[in-house]
Amino acid sequence: MVQVNGNYLKLKAGYLFPEIARRVKAFAAAHPDAPLIRLGIGDVTEPLPAACREAMKAAIDAMGTAEGFYGYGPEQGYLWLREAIARHDFQARGCAIDAEEIFISDGSKCDSSNILDILGPDNRIAVTDPVYPVYVDSNVMAGRTGEADASGRYGGLTYLPITADNGFIAPLPEQPVDLIYLCFPNNPTGAVATRAQLQQWVDHARATGALILFDAAYEAFIQDPELPHSIYEIEGARDCAIEFRSFSKNAGFTGTRCALTVVPRGLMGTTAAGEAVELWGLWNRRQSTKFNGVSYIVQRGAEAVYSAAGQAEVKALVAFYMENAAIIRRELAAAGLQVYGGEQAPYVWLKTPAGLDSWAFFDRLLEEANVVGTPGSGFGAAGEGYFRLSAFNSRANVEEAMARIARASLVPASAGVA
Ligand code: PLP
Repeated sequence: MVQVNGNYLKLKAGYLFPEIARRVKAFAAAHPDAPLIRLGIGDVTEPLPAACREAMKAAIDAMGTAEGFYGYGPEQGYLWLREAIARHDFQARGCAIDAEEIFISDGSKCDSSNILDILGPDNRIAVTDPVYPVYVDSNVMAGRTGEADASGRYGGLTYLPITADNGFIAPLPEQPVDLIYLCFPNNPTGAVATRAQLQQWVDHARATGALILFDAAYEAFIQDPELPHSIYEIEGARDCAIEFRSFSKNAGFTGTRCALTVVPRGLMGTTAAGEAVELWGLWNRRQSTKFNGVSYIVQRGAEAVYSAAGQAEVKALVAFYMENAAIIRRELAAAGLQVYGGEQAPYVWLKTPAGLDSWAFFDRLLEEANVVGTPGSGFGAAGEGYFRLSAFNSRANVEEAMARIARASLVPASAGVA
């Protein structure tokens, strides 16, 4: 009989979102009339920008003509999109990133997993705790970890705890690591790194020969003009970092699918024998072999994000979600909860009231306010005692959810925050 990849059996059975779905389903079955509001999974809710829709419609019409028809495109993406990205997202911010260093894909979720294809199996890996679960699970699937312990931490990974005590900015690892996943603005904590903090990471990576995998999926939500949007705004980052970006959250492409990965030329790794190899060539080869590109139509839609109309619409979308985040922050604080994040990111991270762990708070919020959120412990052991609410929803739902939370008195009068 065929053998399965046993690494999959190491994965914790109760993956966060299925477990949420299970509890919500059970609650809905017991209370069929309860008007649930979901502030849990980080999917966008507002419609696609008109500029993107118009560009995609025009692309579809062109595909119906002999002259405008496109078959397989370049695996790396069309040059016109890569050039628009290089100009607007990088060069305009002083980053020396060239179009050929940008690889278009159908998601930064898959890219942040697929990148492991070009990296050796013996790399020592550091992740923050809590963390976007995809970084950890893709390493488990690839056989780069041991088994999980009772707290859900996998053997072989270095966990860097991010809590209120360190302002949700990971400390530099105490033991040597080769691969470091960083995500700013952060999912789930909503924290963002300053230039000085990122510089520390870049200096550390260069000094130790480590590679930073920098996930900037939420960069568009940064409000403070002093904060860096890209790791390449940091001196030396071209020598030690790969960056992932996405059109999912800024332009509402979660269902349309378009993203990008930046692999700078001259960024090197080594063979087991110690010979230097350029990562760009390996990623180019990987994509050419295993990927056939994002559809022409979707790439035209993504290109429209950079038109004047597209830029205005994306700005308005981000402002809309950030106003939701401000409402959530304000109302939770008024309800007596300690809140973090939500100022440079679409996620608000709250401390659960004393006596309630993350899942107990989930159940209470569901039962008393009919609001679905995400337990912090699902993102890692150090997320225990925290909870994530997402700003991706309609204004009416956010306001209604906050009104219910205010009425539900989730903070026991005697308790305060833990
Ligand atoms: N990176 C982070 C940190 C995310 O939170 C998400 C989605 O929630 C993604 C990547 C996925 O992005 P994409 O839709 O481009 O696959």
